[in-house]
Amino acid sequence: PEAITVGELANRMAERGADLVKALFKMGMPVTLTQTIDQDTAELLVTEFGHRIKRVSESDIDIQSTEDVDAAESLQSRAPVVTIMGHVDHGKTSLLDALRGTEVVAGEAGGITQHIGAYQVTVKSGDKITFLDTPGHEAFSEMRARGANVTDIVVLVVAADDGLRPQTVEAINHTKAAGVPMIVAINKIDKPEAKPQKVREELLQHEVIVEDMGGDVQDVEVSALKKTNLDDLIEKIQLQAELLELKANPDRPAEGTVVEAKLDKGRGPVATILVGRGTLRVGDVFVVGAESGKVRALVDDKGRNIKEAGPSVPVEVLGLSGVPGAGDQLTVVENEARAREVAAYRAGVIQQKRTTSAPASLESMFSALR
Ligand code: GDP
Ligand code: MG
Repeated sequence: PEAITVGELANRMAERGADLVKALFKMGMPVTLTQTIDQDTAELLVTEFGHRIKRVSESDIDIQSTEDVDAAESLQSRAPVVTIMGHVDHGKTSLLDALRGTEVVAGEAGGITQHIGAYQVTVKSGDKITFLDTPGHEAFSEMRARGANVTDIVVLVVAADDGLRPQTVEAINHTKAAGVPMIVAINKIDKPEAKPQKVREELLQHEVIVEDMGGDVQDVEVSALKKTNLDDLIEKIQLQAELLELKANPDRPAEGTVVEAKLDKGRGPVATILVGRGTLRVGDVFVVGAESGKVRALVDDKGRNIKEAGPSVPVEVLGLSGVPGAGDQLTVVENEARAREVAAYRAGVIQQKRTTSAPASLESMFSALR
């Protein structure tokens, strides 16, 4: 949604355009001064050139005390949140489906898996992994532009018969910009024309150095189609998650991020929330983006009504005043009067931002340049 030409970016950074073009070329993006690049790539460039940048999100508005830090002793491990990225047709959807198929906890009778934009699987060890099923890089960068960095680990899918393609490079740039660790899944290994080693070499050109090549990025050869090495991939995700020591306090009012939201004919506005910390419960009063509400029902990724959802759990929330945007923050507040007040305030701020001429987050990104 937000793009800037290379020339304009150079101006704002007070750098030479040619230097930016050169840097972009090195990142695998041959562009000219008049071509536009997306916000994540711009941010990566700014970082590379050593400027300090800060994303400012619409949801920065302090509601209660969003700054409050949970005491160390209140923290408990939480499941990693994984996003799968890669070039179109390299097998993202197939891999998501195959991984979902590894679920070891049988669903209850009648519990039909439904699409809610995220799902959680329980793997053999009993641990859980949450997968975000958001379509593509745009959702990823859109959410980041709104200040929502919900992904802990990116799985980069590269088809072994096709190698690195433009969207693969974009995904690498997005992941680097987000500072999220990456695991490479070299897919379609069942194909006779698969060349996994070539993929590793191509990755090298983009400074993604897998372990075999002396780097620290984990890679695994898989076939989403034949379900080959999925256990291996899961193990690598778990290993990465362990290194990250992911923790959250489940015993506090919930905060979460909108993964997707829609107006459902029968159920009204529905949002899929990924809980970040705290526990969301039926009856909780909340603000989400410029909307407010009271949790009428919580529905999990298997279509079951549940009473509560803790950290890293994706859940559909019913009882909203309207449809929020992906990346909006949900915060539980003490009462409905407070919820309406905060929602109205946010609505005003968001309205204001929309009427300013320049794209808000790109603007604010550069206003923070020094
Ligand atoms: P996406 O666009 O990245 O989501 O890719 P899809 O999952 O839709 O897959 C694109 C095509 O590649 C489909 O025809 C899949 O059946 C096929 N495909 C995906 N994974 C594999 C694999 O491991 N082996 C083979 N042979 N085909 C695959
Ligand atoms: Mg797909």
